[in-house]
Amino acid sequence: MGADHAPDKSLSQRRRVARLILKRLTKLYPEIATALAYTDPWQLLVATVLSAQTTDENVNRVTPVLFARWPQPDDLAVASPEEVEEVIYSTGYYRQKTKSLLALAADVVDEFGGNVPRDLDAMVTLRGVGRKTASVVLAEAWGDPAIAVDTHVKRVANRLGLTGNADPGKIESDLKELYLKETWAGISMRFIQFGRDVCDARRPRCWECPLRDRCPFEPKTARPRNAP
Ligand code: SF4
Repeated sequence: MGADHAPDKSLSQRRRVARLILKRLTKLYPEIATALAYTDPWQLLVATVLSAQTTDENVNRVTPVLFARWPQPDDLAVASPEEVEEVIYSTGYYRQKTKSLLALAADVVDEFGGNVPRDLDAMVTLRGVGRKTASVVLAEAWGDPAIAVDTHVKRVANRLGLTGNADPGKIESDLKELYLKETWAGISMRFIQFGRDVCDARRPRCWECPLRDRCPFEPKTARPRNAP
């Protein structure tokens, strides 16, 4: 076989390591899903917009009220901003979030007949929806192949050597090159949970990390004397 046909060994090797990492994370988190409460893609889209700069628990406290009063995009598109602000007030940035939600609802009604489009390129045309939000909805609500890159995914993927990029779009491409398409939907939530539980931004728990032997990050942290 000529050199032209030689497999890209470094890519093959990186894929093997990446898949081993995902296998271990899947063992650690066999069942994982967003903590946001929702019953359909529209509700998850709204909840994801509301989750900026606040906790999922805070969002879950307001969404039952929000969806009871304005169940569908056409209800929310014509809602009074002051009333929506009052309902979502406790999630923070309530004025901006209200503007985003009303614009988002209007776009879903005007451009997509009231249904959230099941397509990344279409979803990012909605006002206030970026690739991260669109990917969360595709992967979580439909189980479609999508990888949402948030701050945890960015940090964990970089520390583990799965990417060398800082730009979320490039990180998404790097991960998609390493992983089989059928596993994409299960990647983000596992990386996010692992980033919260083990690979913390400031104090990673390297001493008890199940990926330690595959992680090029240095210096690895040692168990503090007072650690449980
Ligand atoms: S060894 Fe440390 S830096 Fe590497 S993935 Fe584990 S916790 Fe993160």
